[in-house]
Amino acid sequence: MNLNLLTLISTNSLDWLSTLNTWLDYVLFDSALPAIVIYFVVTLSSFYIFWIYYKQQMQPLRIQQKQRSDKRQWHKEIKNSLISISIFGVIDLGIYLAKQQGWTSLYDDVSQYGLPYILFTIVIMLFWQDTFFYWAHRLMHWKTLYKFSHKVHHDSIDTSPFTAYSFHPVEAIVEALPDLIVVFVLPVHFWALLGYQFASMVMNVIGHLGYEIIPQNWTRHWLGQWKTPSTHHNMHHSKVNGNYGLYFRFWDVLMGTEFKDYEATLNAVYERNR
Ligand SMILES: [Zn+2]
Ligand SMILES: [Zn+2]
Repeated sequence: MNLNLLTLISTNSLDWLSTLNTWLDYVLFDSALPAIVIYFVVTLSSFYIFWIYYKQQMQPLRIQQKQRSDKRQWHKEIKNSLISISIFGVIDLGIYLAKQQGWTSLYDDVSQYGLPYILFTIVIMLFWQDTFFYWAHRLMHWKTLYKFSHKVHHDSIDTSPFTAYSFHPVEAIVEALPDLIVVFVLPVHFWALLGYQFASMVMNVIGHLGYEIIPQNWTRHWLGQWKTPSTHHNMHHSKVNGNYGLYFRFWDVLMGTEFKDYEATLNAVYERNR
């Protein structure tokens, strides 16, 4: 972890064991590989639970009653997602190498800012990503940019867990920008970065699950109502021009871009489950 990868490469070190150790360190902790493994654990488990094994039992939780997604769509989504995650991995490699050079604001010592700060930065990063995404998302819906970036993600109308990272490569780069910016601006512990990326993946998969799993009383809570349930982003895929927010409703409410029938649609989903 503390070995300097660039130096090892540039000096053609013959210490193969150290070099191997450094690469293993990168592959196991910082590259796209763990992200791909975690991606498949999260998406496959939720897909098999909701879309295969308990499909009948889960039917009342379905947001779109008519199933429009099929094997062809899922295969395409997985292929797109693997490209997206590989792009994230290359960007993470850049962050890793920049960290080795001391260019980032990433730090290793937990005691430097304490544990509460690590948790605080996870929340801050989620808010930052949500804000960045809202505006980048609206920009990508601009007709001129749409077909070169965001259209691929909208090919999925009836979303599945595999839709979460089904992006055009240009959108994958845009999606990685918040992480790339934050590590140069905010002091962030490596664990916080991992915790935030994991939370982000889980929330993304829930947003594209196709089933509403957030309890109704959470969505009626004075604070909980600001967190988007699955129905919120599902409506973005079925109706397109609204509900641009990813994790939270703040920007949509503030900018007047939330679908007027959002609450009625959400209530109808809950009614079916009674
Ligand atoms: Zn969109
Ligand atoms: Zn989506």
